[in-house]
Amino acid sequence: MSWKRNYFASGGGAVGGVQGLVTPRTMTSIAPSKGLSNEPGQNSCFLNSALQVLWHLDIFRRSFRQLTTHKCMEDSCIFCALKSIFAQFQFSSERVLPSDALRSALAKTFQDEQRFQLGIMDDAAECFENLLMRIHFHISAESREDICTAKHCIPHQKFAMTLFEQCVCTSCGATSDPLPFIQMVHYISTTSLCNQAVKMLECRDKPTPDMFGELLRNASNMGDLRNCPSNCGEVLRIRRVLMNSPEIVSIGLVWDSDHSDLAEDVIHSLGTCLRLGDLFYRVTEEKARQAELYLVGMVCYYGKHYSTFFFQTKIRKWMYFDDAHVKEVKRRSFGECMLQCREGALYCTVSAASPLVPVGAETTGTVPYDTSVLYV
Ligand SMILES: [Zn+2]
Ligand SMILES: [Zn+2]
Ligand SMILES: [Zn+2]
Repeated sequence: MSWKRNYFASGGGAVGGVQGLVTPRTMTSIAPSKGLSNEPGQNSCFLNSALQVLWHLDIFRRSFRQLTTHKCMEDSCIFCALKSIFAQFQFSSERVLPSDALRSALAKTFQDEQRFQLGIMDDAAECFENLLMRIHFHISAESREDICTAKHCIPHQKFAMTLFEQCVCTSCGATSDPLPFIQMVHYISTTSLCNQAVKMLECRDKPTPDMFGELLRNASNMGDLRNCPSNCGEVLRIRRVLMNSPEIVSIGLVWDSDHSDLAEDVIHSLGTCLRLGDLFYRVTEEKARQAELYLVGMVCYYGKHYSTFFFQTKIRKWMYFDDAHVKEVKRRSFGECMLQCREGALYCTVSAASPLVPVGAETTGTVPYDTSVLYV
């Protein structure tokens, strides 16, 4: 049985709900988590956070281990740098590892765009997305990013959401041409999220676990209005249709300002379980419609600094990664961890303005949502 099902069995849905705790399995030969160094002036916390997410995502780590051949770019090779740091995560006896080789490869790769340059702070969510796209480049160079079907391409097979969007007029029946696209991170405005949460709670007694996907869908559609394609005068909401079944879904929370006062409300509106079928207007694959993803990781931004929470499946505990520092989250579920944020205790880092990134994973694998929140 999947750990997720055990762990979250009795709810833990949208707002509140922190039940379903189980006793951790007996611990056997578990390598302790390692931190990543970030010396003064390096400003590598954005990369360290993205890297901890990739390493701790069981689906990614296991699949990446099996990849052997790639198109090598020598000293700017992100694939080689990732292989090297992953080997250190697995075999090194050091508790803190340098991420310099990857930092340097990233800077060289994105020199022309002037992104991710040495010593300069950058965005963790975009770094995460770009790392995935570079892995695609190194292992399936022949395929285009927007139509990659390479079976061994982890980014496209496990992370990518293949979507199309379309307007359908409810008044005159006109439809716009479907616009297909692929996204690695599903971005949502925190303002829309909070407004929608208030609206949805107005019409029910209490939050239910199935609310979260619907909340994200409503928040993502809000304000995104288009004119009827045949200009009949109707104003329409865009419809997004998911055509594949990603194993890991990343949700990026976009903050309208650096000093948002919505942090606490956002934390309260985050759910630990996401039904993929609720996230979009329509989901074509049966597997995706049935998929329940659980929150496994979250990258937070606070005080111009990124740090990461991740649920470690082997020890069934939430860990907190702040560059070189690694701590076990004493409370046992992410819900409790979020409550702790609200109390302004140890993890006040989550009560942040600016991009808050979580990650998710699917029930059959591991788990995360957005380079803010990761669901698997
Ligand atoms: Zn290489
Ligand atoms: Zn690909
Ligand atoms: Zn119309």
